[in-house]
Amino acid sequence: MSIKAAIIGFGGMGSFHAQQIKQINSIEITGVYDINPQKVQEGVKKGYKGYSTLEECLSDDTELVIIATPNNFHKELSIEALRAGKHVICEKPVMMNAKELEEVLEVSKQEKKIFTVHQNRRWDKDFRIVKEALDRKLIGKPFYIESRVQGSRGIPGDWRCVREAGGGMLLDWGVHLLDQLLWLVDSPVTEVYAHLLSVKFEGVDDNFKVLLKFENGLSALIEVDTYTFIPLPRWHISTDSGTLVINDWECSGKILKANLVEFKWEEGIVHTSAGPTKTMAPRPVETIDELPLPQMEPDCKDYYDNVAKAVKGEGELIVTPAQAMRVMRIIDAIFESAKCGECIKGVDIYET
Ligand code: NAD
Repeated sequence: MSIKAAIIGFGGMGSFHAQQIKQINSIEITGVYDINPQKVQEGVKKGYKGYSTLEECLSDDTELVIIATPNNFHKELSIEALRAGKHVICEKPVMMNAKELEEVLEVSKQEKKIFTVHQNRRWDKDFRIVKEALDRKLIGKPFYIESRVQGSRGIPGDWRCVREAGGGMLLDWGVHLLDQLLWLVDSPVTEVYAHLLSVKFEGVDDNFKVLLKFENGLSALIEVDTYTFIPLPRWHISTDSGTLVINDWECSGKILKANLVEFKWEEGIVHTSAGPTKTMAPRPVETIDELPLPQMEPDCKDYYDNVAKAVKGEGELIVTPAQAMRVMRIIDAIFESAKCGECIKGVDIYET
């Protein structure tokens, strides 16, 4: 039997949820609610029940609610839905800060209802390739990970440009990149240092760089730009035996690894216009092996099947409240670091 669900907020992402869930059997969307009646009508045209109020939506016989409104409504709507006895999938960022999430998780505990966040980008192909390469130790031990997304179109001119609505790129792509990174690296974050910029959009961050240090010695950079015309690779990972690069959404890229063939320093001197260098000369090609990237075909619809299983008591959530809390605490630290210009320590609540 499929689980009946309603969508709250039937805009871009609400519609995406509906399309995805149509293709699976574990959940069925029966109704939609939006503060904009036109959006409700769009849902009705697609065959869903249209609710004209939140109360009507929450008093219907659905077990699950998917919240896909702008970020500043996530807390209030999650609490109301949990209090009405619904399990909740909330869009990312799960909340505006860790304090809000604490309140919501307390209600979820009291009501004994599942609360999870739609971290769908754990199913992105580029990310799964990286995870597979690191999990299978295809490229040795990583010491530096760069994960970035760069566009040149600015921020869509909607609530995403408004600070009070939870706008800005840290609460947008930043949350995805951080969630992916924390799933990738099995170690507590010890230090966070951030630069948030408002290049074109006053009041919200439209470009940022965050440096994170982990207890196991690994460092990582997460970076989001909305005004970069020549993008750097999506992933660039340095390890003690090679480098992995994924360039783009199509996942072009490669792994280069040092082999056992030795080279002589004297044979590789490069003369730049102003002087010689041995250190920065390219390695002789015979000392390097090229490996293909692992092939991965993840399906982001698995997220919904997992939530459905958890609702039925047949499995554990993949995206857990504890993971969401880790992300939000580090997001808080990033904002704090950007404000005070200092490195923030001791915020992670990593559990093995
Ligand atoms: P959107 O503006 O396209 O849609 C938001 C909808 O919510 C609108 O139809 C609006 O009328 C409605 N709404 C606003 N306030 C409401 C309220 N109080 N009650 C009910 N409805 C309300 O925005 P979007 O792009 O769909 O983003 C929605 C959420 O999804 C955001 O939290 C965003 O961060 C998230 N999102 C996630 C992903 C992802 O990949 N996981 C991608 C895009 C957006």
